[in-house]
Amino acid sequence: MDTAQRIPILMYHRVGEPEHPRDIYCIRPEHFSAQMQALARASWCAVSIEDFDAWRRGEKSLPENSFVLTFDDGFTGVFDFAAPTLKKLEWPATVFLVAGKLGGQSDWEVTTEEPMLPHPLMNAAQLRSLSAQGFSLHSHSLLHHDLTKLETSALEQDLRDSRVLITDICGQAPVYLAYPYGRHNEAVRNAAQRAGFTTAFSVESGFNRPTVSAYQIRRLDVFGTDTPAMLLRKIRLGTNDGSLTHLMRYYLHRILRLN
Ligand SMILES: [Zn+2]
Repeated sequence: MDTAQRIPILMYHRVGEPEHPRDIYCIRPEHFSAQMQALARASWCAVSIEDFDAWRRGEKSLPENSFVLTFDDGFTGVFDFAAPTLKKLEWPATVFLVAGKLGGQSDWEVTTEEPMLPHPLMNAAQLRSLSAQGFSLHSHSLLHHDLTKLETSALEQDLRDSRVLITDICGQAPVYLAYPYGRHNEAVRNAAQRAGFTTAFSVESGFNRPTVSAYQIRRLDVFGTDTPAMLLRKIRLGTNDGSLTHLMRYYLHRILRLN
C-alpha cells in the first residue's frame, strides 16, 4: 500500500434551492452537477466508502485521485437531483441517515446563525432505489442529537436503534457513523464502537492517510457557493478554504520550506 496516499472525503448536505444567499449547506442541482463534471474532467474518481475503509485498513489499494462522496442527513434532493448526476458518472456515494426521521422532516435544532426551515427527508422506497443504484446507506444517529450531551445509556440506545432501523430498510447493517454536528468526544467514540460501528466520520477538515484514527475520519465541507475551481482547490489541498489566497499561501509555504 502507498502510505503517502491521501484520500479526501467530500461532505454535502442538502441539494436543492437555498433558503437564502447564506444557506451554504444547500447546493443547487446545476451547481452540484457542474462540480461533479469538474472533478471528472480533472481525473478525480469517486470510490465507495467501503473501498475507502478497506484501503484505510491496508486491505485494498485505491487508484490515484480517488475520493469519497458523502451526504449528511438524507434530504430528498439527494434522490431527486444528485443521484441522476452520479448515475451518469457511475460514481458511488454514501448517505448518512437520521434513522428515526426517515420520510419525515429535518426538524432538529440547527446551529447556523439564521433559523432554517425543516426540509423533507428520504423515505424507505427512495432509499431502496438509491441502494440499488450503488449508494451506501449508513448512520447519522437516530434523532440528530448532539451525542456529546446524551447520558451513556441514552447514547448507546440512540446508536443501536439507528442501526436496527437502517438495517430494516436496507437489509444490511450500517457500520459507519457520521456524528451529528460533527460533535464527538471519547465517550461518544467508545459508544459508537460498542454499538457496532467500525468507523466514524467527523467534520474536521484535511486528508485521510491510512494512519487516521478510525473514529475521527476527516471530511471536507463543500458549500453551495463553491465554484468548480474552488472545489478543485479544496480537494487538492485538503482544506475547507477554496479561496485563491489560500492556494497562494499554501504554495508559498511549500516554497519557503524547501529553501
Ligand atoms: Zn446532520
